[in-house]
Amino acid sequence: MWLDSLIGLFSVDMGIDLGTCNTLVAVRGQGIVLNEPSVVAVAKGTNRVLMRGGQPAVGWVAKEMLGKTPGSITAVRPLKDGVISDFEITEAMLNYFITKVTGRMRVIGPRVVISIPSGITAVEKRAVFDSAERAGAWRTYLLEEPVAAAIGAGLPFAEPTASMIVDIGGGTTEVAIMSLADIATCESVRVAGDDMDEAIMAHMKRTYNLMVGEQTAERIKIQIGSAVPQEEETSIEVRGRDMISGLPRKTTITSEEIREALQEPIGAIIETVTRTLERAEPELAADLVENGITLAGGGALLRGMPASLQKATGLNCVLAEDPLTCVARGTSIFLENIEEWKTTLDSSMDG
Ligand code: ADP
Ligand code: MG
Repeated sequence: MWLDSLIGLFSVDMGIDLGTCNTLVAVRGQGIVLNEPSVVAVAKGTNRVLMRGGQPAVGWVAKEMLGKTPGSITAVRPLKDGVISDFEITEAMLNYFITKVTGRMRVIGPRVVISIPSGITAVEKRAVFDSAERAGAWRTYLLEEPVAAAIGAGLPFAEPTASMIVDIGGGTTEVAIMSLADIATCESVRVAGDDMDEAIMAHMKRTYNLMVGEQTAERIKIQIGSAVPQEEETSIEVRGRDMISGLPRKTTITSEEIREALQEPIGAIIETVTRTLERAEPELAADLVENGITLAGGGALLRGMPASLQKATGLNCVLAEDPLTCVARGTSIFLENIEEWKTTLDSSMDG
């Protein structure tokens, strides 16, 4: 026991948001210290992680290599759909991020809380847990993502009242109703920001015979995408490759047509939210009339997203402060209160 306390003195508390798009690390007393894409560059057709300058090509380095590399390299997002597509690649990524943060601090071994998508299986959880231990974590805890998001958003998640979080990420949307530091009802659906990008790509093909890349589609979404009609509708010029001539071409698109193209993924997200509400205990549902719904994750930043959920549910919907860092901040706050909130952890894997 004394050894534990001694290590505790020199250890650092680290909260990790292992997202489908972005991984963030928050350290107690320092805030967010790392924010990189959840991307790993591998040799095509293998799961061999590429090296660059003596370091594994992970995060920004991997993303930079994307698109500017010969066909022999592919970029993998190992958690893209909220499930782990490849354990080795996931481990390489987690290991890289943890050592990148601990490396500059000279600590004995961090205490780590990792937030994981709530849809992943027990085997996948075990793999994340073991990877963190192998990366040098002294204590590892796994926390369901919606819980982390709720804590980061400052919701009264441990109180005897219901709070509801809708976390729209890249690959998955997590919806949960919580009370007394526990999840009462939750659903995870594989429709989120990536699907909005895909809907835009499909629209460009269908309407203009124009192929646009994923990054262009994401840019269109962020620049002019919306979930409900806007006071000021806009238009932008888009470049891509003509599907018939095969040549580069540009065209102008409007925010109205992009909104139309986004209806399907947005509809699927809304449906998940209403379904979760229908499954809620009456007492908790009653609380939500007062407490409303809080939105987190990058996808929640789509213009009019809270308004469209509010229209569909009749409940007050608000955007969490800084939705992209909510989960990471939540994991860090969780560590500070771990003794009190321990019961919330995945019981198969604490300590
Ligand atoms: P994850 O937790 O799954 O890693 P994030 O919460 O980091 O995902 O959100 C990433 C998603 O948010 C991406 O699909 C990205 O395109 C989207 N996104 C980021 N900013 C905006 C914005 N301003 N408007 C719409 N979507 C956004
Ligand atoms: Mg997330």
